[in-house]
Amino acid sequence: MVGNGAGQPHAVVTGGAGFLGSHLCDALIASGYRVTCVDNFETGRAANLRHLEGDPRFTLLRRDLKDYGDADLAGPVDVVYHLAAPAAPADYLLDPVATMRIASTGTLNALDLARSRSARFVLASTSEVYGPAGEAPSREDSVGQVDPADGYGAYYEARRFAEALTTAYRATYDLRTAIARIFNTYGPRMRLDDGRVLSRFIRQALAGTPLTVPGPGTQTRSLCYVDDAVAGLLALADGGYPGPVNIGSPEAVSVFSIAQEVAEIAGPAAEIVFVEPPVTDSQARLPDISLATQLLDWQPRTSVHDGLTATLTWFQRVGARRG
Ligand code: NAD
Repeated sequence: MVGNGAGQPHAVVTGGAGFLGSHLCDALIASGYRVTCVDNFETGRAANLRHLEGDPRFTLLRRDLKDYGDADLAGPVDVVYHLAAPAAPADYLLDPVATMRIASTGTLNALDLARSRSARFVLASTSEVYGPAGEAPSREDSVGQVDPADGYGAYYEARRFAEALTTAYRATYDLRTAIARIFNTYGPRMRLDDGRVLSRFIRQALAGTPLTVPGPGTQTRSLCYVDDAVAGLLALADGGYPGPVNIGSPEAVSVFSIAQEVAEIAGPAAEIVFVEPPVTDSQARLPDISLATQLLDWQPRTSVHDGLTATLTWFQRVGARRG
């Protein structure tokens, strides 16, 4: 736990109303933190935090981080987790300029908040910084290759800028920063409209329609269960290591076997059909997690079967509208 030893430690989570952020808020509260979430609900959901309403350990500030100072933030802060950013292609391509503003001005504001409170700062970066042609498995010292003008630059170039800014604050102000490069994460509260293959399978299973596997189905994905990813972020905050460090599953799972697992969990009526693959169906971006294992004693613990069962069961309980 990151704390100053005087009273209950306080964590700020930007983007805390989102998929990953809301699970992080839960984990922090469970481990004894007071948590302030700063979120403008651009892609986040009130329902993700409803269970925390009225909890004295939790404060929600509905603010846009792009123009946020920290005047309304009470008391000392021990750690700032910066997750606010559109994460799904459908979101970050919708308004690429806003995507770049949150990665630049938003990250500046989050870093200034941490600096003014002498807090530890953890940046939720992404495997996208390795670029579309990145090596698999990707190591943290891989330079990555991105084309800033290929139309997707608003996302991965913006996130590279956020990493550079975080590194600059560390070098210039001695801020205790850390960078997590998060790979594909799934679980309850994930967005089912994020364009990923697993989200589509879950939507189809809930609707009782066939699961459509883009042929031949041997393409692979790396799937990290959300509780494991959150544990990685907590371990990174607790240690002194600046990163970047990969947080993701090193296991490449074929798209067909994901469909099989989902179909099996959904019940005997679930069908799988093969469809034409999209022109640019990608292979998995796979992390090398040696650093996280050595330095943070971290690795994913949840099997794909258990994680998918927990996820699908949750969606079956709350309904597809929550995705
Ligand atoms: P999400 O869209 O569910 O959550 C992002 C949150 O940020 C939302 O609650 C949104 O409202 C908030 N936000 C966006 N712009 C904001 C602004 N200007 N001011 C305040 N709040 C703002 O996404 P997620 O999947 O939970 O991802 C969280 C972080 O983790 C992102 O930085 C993302 O890039 C990173 N990440 C996620 C994954 C994944 O598989 N989910 C993989 C790699 C990296």
